[in-house]
Amino acid sequence: MSTCFDLVVIGAGPGGYEAALEAAKLGMHTALIEKTAVGGTCLNRGCIPTKALMHSAELAAKIRGAKEFGIRVQEPEIDLKAVQEHKENTIAALQKGIRSLLKGAKVTLYEGKGKVCSPKLVEVTTEEGETLELETEKILLATGSVPSLVPIPGIDLPGVMTSDEMLNLEEKPESLLIIGGGVIGVEFAGIYQAFGSKVTIVEALPSLLANMDKELGQSVKMSLKKKGVDIHTGARVEKLEACEQGIRCTFTEKEETQVCEASKVLVAVGRRPFTEGLFEEPCMPVMERGRICVDEEFQTSIPGIYAIGDVNGLLQLAHAATAQGIRAVHGMKGEKHPSEPMLIPSCVYTDPEVASVGLTASAAQEQGISVKTHKIVSSSNGKSVLSGQERGFMKVVYLEDSHVIVGAQLYCARATDMISEFAEAILQKMTLEEMAAVIRPHPSFSEMITDVVKI
Ligand code: NAD
Repeated sequence: MSTCFDLVVIGAGPGGYEAALEAAKLGMHTALIEKTAVGGTCLNRGCIPTKALMHSAELAAKIRGAKEFGIRVQEPEIDLKAVQEHKENTIAALQKGIRSLLKGAKVTLYEGKGKVCSPKLVEVTTEEGETLELETEKILLATGSVPSLVPIPGIDLPGVMTSDEMLNLEEKPESLLIIGGGVIGVEFAGIYQAFGSKVTIVEALPSLLANMDKELGQSVKMSLKKKGVDIHTGARVEKLEACEQGIRCTFTEKEETQVCEASKVLVAVGRRPFTEGLFEEPCMPVMERGRICVDEEFQTSIPGIYAIGDVNGLLQLAHAATAQGIRAVHGMKGEKHPSEPMLIPSCVYTDPEVASVGLTASAAQEQGISVKTHKIVSSSNGKSVLSGQERGFMKVVYLEDSHVIVGAQLYCARATDMISEFAEAILQKMTLEEMAAVIRPHPSFSEMITDVVKI
């Protein structure tokens, strides 16, 4: 088989494999290199496995609450090994699906580690140590990210884990301390709280989900607290030590020293771009704090080499990586893809779900844009009440003069599905009135959209 390609993609996550499929569709002879498993972080160590665990956790929570709906059941027993089996089966099924898509599109998959030797040459080294050279016109880097660690004394103690290891636990920890109240921190808090662990979050900043709308972080904090999660914000972790129960964490909150003991510790303080061994010097593009710098079309400082997804550090989300990859391969063909790769919904899979797209009111104000917001709560939404949902809200941000929608923040059931309606409205520059003209079914969660855009 030829080892000359139009495009070589390194990394088969949702950025890399979707870009390879799109490139093949555009007629490019494409190779894809993956060092571990197709699907990348999203499928193997991120979105899919966490949501598979979460599905089991939510089911347990629903069973516990069944009495409210007239169903008498016993306290559910959590068999974490079986929960893991469901997760593994899910991953395997999706991996198989990706492989068959790649085969169908005639993308050549190389299993090994890719290294950029020059803008026209990539080397693949297999696990057995064999090397192969691939000549190519273009290169797309989609190598993703790995969990960051912080230099806290005791961070390397047994029982201190990143999300990678946390996903494979076969026994439920009695207690779990989570360092970091960002997306990973709150999602794992929800999962293990529902599995019956005693969960504590220690977050350095004054709020959870600090880079989202303030009200979203506050709502998630209140909801997790109500479910029994112990939350410390504005708290600095000083050290971790081994103790009888597992690990003792000393942290400072409001200038007071506090101590918390837990059987396991999850460190969820962000992720860093993965570029180890990716370049043979001098073929190295400009980088900034570990991320590969790119232009608007995702091209690096070296013409013909592109970088998309977590490795360029713009937005660490699977669907952002996919959008960037598709945009990049169209760019290679001299075309402009109509998607807007920076208009990306952010979703957090808590209960209720969190979803946000476009501008928040405070971000708009910082940019000097005159906006207004309209907010409604879910307590008058029939579907929310009949299904016993926790009280949530929907907020829309719109331009004061024209009523054009520029942002939305949702905290309610199915928020992660409904946010797409707002993403479309923002992309199409729709006004509140245009969105209100859509007739939505009754009863449905989406009736909240009609209510929030009616002012
Ligand atoms: P994050 O940046 O969302 O949150 C990390 C948190 O850790 C921050 O709030 C930070 O203030 C805190 N922190 C940092 N150092 C600390 C310390 N020493 N003590 C206490 N707190 C500390 O990162 P994450 O939650 O690790 O997630 C990583 C990336 O993965 C994010 O970009 C996220 O978007 C992505 N991700 C997305 C989803 C999703 O879309 N649902 C799910 C999981 C992860």
